[in-house]
Amino acid sequence: MSSIFSKIIAGEIPCHKVWEDDKHFAFLDINPWTEGHTLVVPKKEHDYLFDMPEADYAALQLAARKVAALLKSKLNCKRVCTCVIGYEVPHVHIHLLPTNVMQDFAKPGTFGMKVKPDLAALAAKIRG
Ligand code: 5GP
Repeated sequence: MSSIFSKIIAGEIPCHKVWEDDKHFAFLDINPWTEGHTLVVPKKEHDYLFDMPEADYAALQLAARKVAALLKSKLNCKRVCTCVIGYEVPHVHIHLLPTNVMQDFAKPGTFGMKVKPDLAALAAKIRG
């Protein structure tokens, strides 16, 4: 079964498209975190960003960079922030978030862990 984003790309579900090339599609998030919140999606379905074939991954990042430049120039914002989550829609997408100040992205006190983990132990665990 095709993902909701494949249905959007196919025109079966409406969206507000902002950019497209032969392999990628960019449209406004239906539930924006900031003004101009955009999702950049590969037309080919992949579930998890870091499982993508290297060439597809690199092409997606380059597409996101193009869309970020477009957003920055047209919306005249200071920075376009980015993140990848994917828990809601298992079709890889890069969130692009136009911002002018940190608070546009996350309100003070709402971002970050309440209890700081042991950073030395964590780094040692990751290094193996
Ligand atoms: P994630 O999978 O990264 O956690 O979040 C998926 C994102 O897709 C959410 O920000 C959500 O608002 C957006 N989204 C989900 N369904 C639709 C849709 O039908 N249209 C649009 N434009 N955005 C959607």
